[in-house]
Amino acid sequence: MDDSQLNAFLQNPDTLFANPSIPRVFDWEKNDMALNQDKPSSAMDEDEEESSVDSMLCDSNSRLIPFGFSKSNCTDEVMMFINAGGEALNEADSRMKFLGDSYFEGGNVMQTNEHITQAGDCPFIYQSARFGNFCYRFNNFPPGDYFVDLHFAEIINTNGPKGMRVFNVYMQEEKVLSDFDIFSVVGANKPLQVVDLRVSVKGDGLIALRFEGVIGGPIVCGICVRRAQNIPDPQASQEYLKCNNCAADIEVSSAQKKLMRTKVTDKYEKKIQELTTQCQLKTHECHEAWMSLTSANEQLEKVRMELDNKIFQTRTLDETVGKQAENLKNITSRYEHDKKYWAAAVNDLQEKIMIMKNEHAQLSLDAHACAESIPELNKMVTGVQALVAQSEDLKLKYSEEQAKRKELYNQIQETKGNIRVFCRCRPLGKEEISAGCALVVDFDAAKDGDLGILTGGSTKKTFKFDRVYTPKDNQVDVFADASPLVTSVLDGYNVCIFAYGQTGTGKTFTMEGTDQNRGVNYRTLEQLFQIAKERSETFMYNISVSVLEVYNEQIRDLLSTSPTSKRLEIKQSAEGFHHVPGIIEAKVDNIKEVWNVLQIGSNLRAVGSTNVNEHSSRSHCILRIMVKSKNLMTGDCTKSNLWLVDLAGSERLAKTDAQGERLKEAQNINKSLSALGDVIYALATKSSHIPYRNSKLTHLLQDSLGGDSKTLMFVQISPSERDLSETLSSLNFATRVRGIELGPAKRQVDTSELQKMKTLLDKARQEARSKDESVRKLEESLQNVESKAKGRDQVYKTQQEKIKELECQLELKTSMQNQSEEQVSQLSDRLKGREEICTGLQQKVKELETKLKERQPSESASYQQK
Ligand code: ADP
Ligand code: MG
Repeated sequence: MDDSQLNAFLQNPDTLFANPSIPRVFDWEKNDMALNQDKPSSAMDEDEEESSVDSMLCDSNSRLIPFGFSKSNCTDEVMMFINAGGEALNEADSRMKFLGDSYFEGGNVMQTNEHITQAGDCPFIYQSARFGNFCYRFNNFPPGDYFVDLHFAEIINTNGPKGMRVFNVYMQEEKVLSDFDIFSVVGANKPLQVVDLRVSVKGDGLIALRFEGVIGGPIVCGICVRRAQNIPDPQASQEYLKCNNCAADIEVSSAQKKLMRTKVTDKYEKKIQELTTQCQLKTHECHEAWMSLTSANEQLEKVRMELDNKIFQTRTLDETVGKQAENLKNITSRYEHDKKYWAAAVNDLQEKIMIMKNEHAQLSLDAHACAESIPELNKMVTGVQALVAQSEDLKLKYSEEQAKRKELYNQIQETKGNIRVFCRCRPLGKEEISAGCALVVDFDAAKDGDLGILTGGSTKKTFKFDRVYTPKDNQVDVFADASPLVTSVLDGYNVCIFAYGQTGTGKTFTMEGTDQNRGVNYRTLEQLFQIAKERSETFMYNISVSVLEVYNEQIRDLLSTSPTSKRLEIKQSAEGFHHVPGIIEAKVDNIKEVWNVLQIGSNLRAVGSTNVNEHSSRSHCILRIMVKSKNLMTGDCTKSNLWLVDLAGSERLAKTDAQGERLKEAQNINKSLSALGDVIYALATKSSHIPYRNSKLTHLLQDSLGGDSKTLMFVQISPSERDLSETLSSLNFATRVRGIELGPAKRQVDTSELQKMKTLLDKARQEARSKDESVRKLEESLQNVESKAKGRDQVYKTQQEKIKELECQLELKTSMQNQSEEQVSQLSDRLKGREEICTGLQQKVKELETKLKERQPSESASYQQK
């Protein structure tokens, strides 16, 4: 039971004390002091009612008046009127004077605006009160007799102190009111006066009033002290009793009176005893009721808590049910999705299996066909083997033929001479034309290799060379004659090509050329790569280049980027080859790379020289091309060098200029050019001693000069009259070199022999051509057969591989299908399990709900009961 409920209960205690045996309303009509009151419905024993009021008044002289203070009734002199719990107030006519609440000890003040019925002349007295346990002490009263009137009102129902109040009042420490209960006499909000309480004030002048609660706290609205003027004589009072009805004095003897007193006392004592036991009983009952109330309250609290718990549980259950339902929904949808997916996958797999089965069948057929074709293949293989053997034989023959062809080719070259000299005359320069220089060259018989020089007047000196180029002949024409030599280097021959002549006659132009008009060097390499490419099926070529310079009898590597302090020297290997250790051999795979290398060389040549042209005219510039070849059929390897040399200017120095460094340069140039002339001459005349070691240049080219080696020299001349002497000098040098001068035996072949040789050569050529053709045809057919056999083999192999692959795939897919089926069954099992759990949970929830429903009415009933 909470506070509010307790308060309600306390405010309306009748609900608890429904027992009619406890009187709460006093019946005034039945009382001896009855006044004009409506008759209450309560039926009560007369004696009991009378005695219940009597029992409260201890002073037999005192009376109870059930209405408020009336001035007219107050005849005595009012000594003091305390408005308990209120303020001091003077009546308008100033007859009455109400003192504020004072002289008290203890207690609390209460006030109300509630209307107090029948409150008399001064209703405000009853609208304030002092309550609790307290006392009033009035001092300085003159000794004598006084009447004390006490004013009460039960104002508990409105805003007064709650609960029942029964209390005792002591005056001068003598009980004047015992177990006084205002409510039981007048009910609520009605005044009740206890008047004529007699008190004697002694010498101390004190009137002491004490209010003491038996149940609850006493409540007092006012205290009035009057001077007792008409106090009956105690003697007389002993003899007379006043009639309550008519106020007539009845004579009573003292013995009778004593008897009456004893009777009354006995009666009262009996009554007190009864009341005490009753009170104890009631107290006990009250206690028990209180205890049961408390326990009921506790139970109620417990029940409420349980209810709360249940509600909470229900809520959580609701939530879990919701969640489970959601989960179930999710799982179901997922299951549906998975089901669809797996069904599709299974269908797909089945289709694939079907396809694979078909393929497998097809492949089996193919395999069978292949197996059947094996004997045929075997036949073919033997055929191919026979063909291979045949081709091997043909190859052998072919290489023999090739060797023969090479030999024949070489013979042709040799018939032309291993040392050849071409003469090239440059056109007149602009300056020469403007200067009106005369031409001294006659090209009339140039086609036959004859060159005429007008040496003055009408004399004409004729020179014969292998080829004579007029100024009209371009670079292409010049290279066309040089190119067979280039082919020789790829066949394993060493070749030297020189440009000899006076400075400014076109040596560099012939060898290097210009960007738009490339010379022999570039064109040679271009052709080498082209032929190498053409022969790539039968030969493998490895081409590398070096760029060197010989200046003042010293070799310089023009590809070396690091300036080497070490002098480059010519060494002879154990095999007898001459080489320069340490020179850079740049491997080139195409003409573009060659061009880059040549650029590096010419750039480096420029470094360290103030005038490039001048420097170049005094040094020999050498481009060496090294060719390593491998015959892919025979496995033969060759190694050969092609030297392309732009020689230093051949002009002789004027004697006056020959000084110091310039003289040294000139001597060195002269020495090396003479040495070169000597060596070539010696070779041409098949001299027993070849003076290679006379210069760095001839020493360097030793392996490529002589023997099988081929040498070509371009003699460059100027057509100008100005250069006549140098031109003659150059032409003389060239003529000597050519060996014509001495009329060499080798070149002097008689014509019949030559004719024979020519017919032989033609025959050989024709034979070679026809054999070449047949070999080519054979090779082609062989290749066809081989490729066919290879193709079949390949098809067979790939088909077998395919079969294997497909079998693997089939296995894989079957296992995958099994797995997926297993997964599907697992998933459906899990789903079933979840569904069962869900139905279980739903049932539980339902059970709980029904339980809760059952409980709720029973709980509320018990709650109400309690
Ligand atoms: P060298 O190297 O012998 O000193 P160059 O090659 O430097 O001579 O030639 C000198 C000049 O003559 C160059 O300008 C060159 O272009 C030109 N020249 C030489 N020969 C020919 C030719 N056949 N046709 C056109 N111009 C030429
Ligand atoms: Mg030059």
